[in-house]
Amino acid sequence: MIVGSDGVNSVVARKSGIRTRWGSDISLCLETEVELDDALIAECVEAGTLEFYFRGPGMFPKRGRLSVGLGGPISQMRGSRKMFMSFVKAISLQKKINLTDRITRINSNLIPLGGVNRKIHDERVILTGDAAGFVDPFLAEGLYYAIKSGEIAAYIAALAVENNNFSREFLAGYVTKCDDAFGSDLKAARRFAKFAYGNIDRSLKILRSDKQMFLKYLETVRGDMTYADFNKWCVLRSPVTFLKLISG
Ligand SMILES: Cc1cc2nc3c(=O)[nH]c(=O)nc-3n(C[C@H](O)[C@H](O)[C@H](O)COP(=O)(O)OP(=O)(O)OC[C@H]3O[C@@H](n4cnc5c(N)ncnc54)[C@H](O)[C@@H]3O)c2cc1C
Repeated sequence: MIVGSDGVNSVVARKSGIRTRWGSDISLCLETEVELDDALIAECVEAGTLEFYFRGPGMFPKRGRLSVGLGGPISQMRGSRKMFMSFVKAISLQKKINLTDRITRINSNLIPLGGVNRKIHDERVILTGDAAGFVDPFLAEGLYYAIKSGEIAAYIAALAVENNNFSREFLAGYVTKCDDAFGSDLKAARRFAKFAYGNIDRSLKILRSDKQMFLKYLETVRGDMTYADFNKWCVLRSPVTFLKLISG
């Protein structure tokens, strides 16, 4: 049998017929790494800090390099290179460091957002990680889900060998185990992302004015609290505000 852990452009998904192309629920990310002295990086982004602009790219420091990226739903990414470069220009002026001329290459990558039901297995085939579309739709983080689904795939593949059963029905155990491990949280993350990105000004205003909610939000993006528990916590804390926000 085959475990397809070959990323977002999975050949295994295509050749097995599980998925010939992604639907519209996929994001595009432009990303570059600017080589800079550590002292200049510290001037650009405070140590231990990531900068996110929500309507523009984000930046985070690495050793000797500054990572700058812009991402969003593919349907909204027309003209993204221009948007990316104008952001870099604006940030260069603001930080008084010329980042524009230091950019040698811009990479673009697809990011498959999770939290939707997709076909991820067939007879003798299982897809994991990005190939299966297991990415947090709010933060676009997929490393945890890639590792976790890989572990589950290994377990189920071993069971399939033991039982000499590679049928679609038997391998459905993989889908169930992934659902149990992180499926509901990816769905809760999708609801949260839809709400937060759809109401960005109001969401930021609430986080700014409600310190306890902000701390819970930090716990969530750090992975110490699930999105499902965070959503529940928000509703219980302030049901009226939440209803107003949802109803717009
Ligand atoms: C710019 C950017 C920044 C990101 N930052 C973060 C982050 O900070 N935190 C986080 O959690 N996630 C982040 N992600 C998402 C994360 O990188 C992915 O979700 C994760 O790497 C998925 O792991 P994977 O093993 O499924 O796929 P991949 O990491 O894509 O690995 C697939 C592997 O398969 C190989 N492969 C593909 N096709 C073939 C083939 N035909 N033959 C042989 N080998 C093949 C590839 O070379 C690759 O090594 C980021 C993504 C991008 C694009």
